[in-house]
Amino acid sequence: MKYQTESISQWDLRRMKQKILDRIKRPSLGCWSWTGAAAGDGVPRVMVASNHRHVNYVVARAMYFFEHDHVPAINEVVGHLCRNKRCLNPAHLELLTPEECHADSSRSSGTGGHDAQ
Ligand SMILES: [Zn+2]
Repeated sequence: MKYQTESISQWDLRRMKQKILDRIKRPSLGCWSWTGAAAGDGVPRVMVASNHRHVNYVVARAMYFFEHDHVPAINEVVGHLCRNKRCLNPAHLELLTPEECHADSSRSSGTGGHDAQ
């Protein structure tokens, strides 16, 4: 299932920062894991109040913002260098355009059998 991405202001995210960090296990090495709720697909999300509504926001996107001071746009995807979609370590996150994201998923699916070259 493709999850919906939401636009959200950096102010709303800043307000949530400590709450979010409190729910992340942060070892000095390796992947950071979420101790809060996650949806059926296992992707960590957090409820953020924004513009008089509640948004179920993907935590990795918030972490990207805290690290780089850039709120990922609707058409930008936060990918995982470590291939662990639950990981929240900003050092393991990368920003992908939709094109890059598509290329990335076809590269990593490994079912095509054309990897030999
Ligand atoms: Zn990781």
